Amino acid sequence: MKRFRHGIFFRSLLCLTVVIWMLLVFSGSSAYSDLTFSEATAGVSDECPEWILNNQVLVDVVYFGFDDKIHRGQVVADARVAGDLQKVFMLMLITGFPLESVIPISELGWDDFQSMELNNTSAFNYRTVPFSSNLSNHAYGLAIDINPLQNPYYTGTQVFPENAEYDPFAPGTLYEGHLVVRLFRHLGWRWGGDWREKDYQHFDKQLENVSLENINKHFEWPPWR
Ligand SMILES: [Zn+2]
Repeated sequence: MKRFRHGIFFRSLLCLTVVIWMLLVFSGSSAYSDLTFSEATAGVSDECPEWILNNQVLVDVVYFGFDDKIHRGQVVADARVAGDLQKVFMLMLITGFPLESVIPISELGWDDFQSMELNNTSAFNYRTVPFSSNLSNHAYGLAIDINPLQNPYYTGTQVFPENAEYDPFAPGTLYEGHLVVRLFRHLGWRWGGDWREKDYQHFDKQLENVSLENINKHFEWPPWR
């Protein structure tokens, strides 16, 4: 009986995968990211330690766009959270949660503000927290920003991207109790929507605790490198 159930499960999964790829092939998708790892990390800050770069992997994802088409995107993130991100992207795809753009930020000159303006979903970026000297969790590839336009960052006095308005009823918006928020929490991530200065687009997983001063005292990861 168990074997039978597993058979049904895997056949369903296979069918779902085939359907998604057919949709992808026939959707005539315009938004498309097909970079190599070198391209997706080209031009990273000179200050980025090699061990951090060595931790990063390029994650290919399939997503549902605001144009009702299926698209291919790419995210650069720490290898340890790549599996988490695949699960979240799969959930967003099968629940029809739309994304605007999913391209590595190297394509946007590593400019977080431009990425937010373009409503781009991205993870790794060796940078500090805006208006601070602390390294962001994005610097380790352990954070992701999702649909910044629908899920803006409120600093208290400013909103990023500019002119964005948070409306929990708008498609592509994250809110308390949303399936994506719940899955991230289940996987051990924090959500910026829980913070005093709301950063609705932001999720991170705290695996590193390395200050700028101790940036070179580290352990190697993954161990097989
Ligand atoms: Zn963020």
